[in-house]
Amino acid sequence: MPRKPFIAGNWKMNKTIAEGVALANELKGLVAGIDDVDIAVCPTFVALAKVGEVIEHSNIMLGGQNTFWKESGAWTSQISPQMLADAGCSWVIVGHSETRGRFGTVDDELEGVLSYFGDNDTTVNMKAKYAFASGLLPIIACGELLSEREAGKTDEIIAAQMNVCLDGFTKEQAMKMVIAYEPVWAIGTGQVCDSDEADRVCGLIRGIVKEMYGEDVAEAVRIQYGGSVNDKNAAELLSKPNIDGALVGGAALKADAFATIIKSAK
Ligand code: PEP
Repeated sequence: MPRKPFIAGNWKMNKTIAEGVALANELKGLVAGIDDVDIAVCPTFVALAKVGEVIEHSNIMLGGQNTFWKESGAWTSQISPQMLADAGCSWVIVGHSETRGRFGTVDDELEGVLSYFGDNDTTVNMKAKYAFASGLLPIIACGELLSEREAGKTDEIIAAQMNVCLDGFTKEQAMKMVIAYEPVWAIGTGQVCDSDEADRVCGLIRGIVKEMYGEDVAEAVRIQYGGSVNDKNAAELLSKPNIDGALVGGAALKADAFATIIKSAK
């Protein structure tokens, strides 16, 4: 069965609640009636409930940008999957390079000190498992740094990340999860990964899923590409056999550009 494309917008730390509501309203109009592409937006935590009201009963799903592996308690600043579900989410991104600390200044002299939010493959795996247990579906992100790519270590890094992040799910869960290949050097830089290379790495990830969960799961699992996807380059990327969608940052902040990306996945 062909895999249904899935385009998700990661709004990161952008948009006030009012701006998020306006963006969601505009997008809803532009993509009304599209049912052959799964669509999700992931606003900031504080905008989730209001944006969720706008897109309720539409073809746009709601996602969180991160979560934790506890339901409630003394975990200052954390948001549980149950809370995301309560706000209307059906998806959650886990392991984005910006929450892993695999981004930007982590490579400078502050490395080890300034690790941003400090996710690692094990916590990403725990978050994804707990998301499933709470009724959410995870988008599990992975990707290599520029230094790792230049050292010829891309495949090794992706395999190491996937072997831990994807460990211990049921086959049914593994079929429903989404994996996002996001080379860190391509995120927010305008430097999109060559489409054949993105397809190659997504194929590598599919091969790892096959080894871990079998051919049926590998054929069903959706693998997104993320990293400077925009309305101009999306069609080329999304035409590739192993790329089943996109995780979009900057271009998801403009309704018309994001709608064009969604339409190019059809
Ligand atoms: C992202 O946030 O996951 C992302 C890929 O960002 P951008 O599209 O801006 O590169």
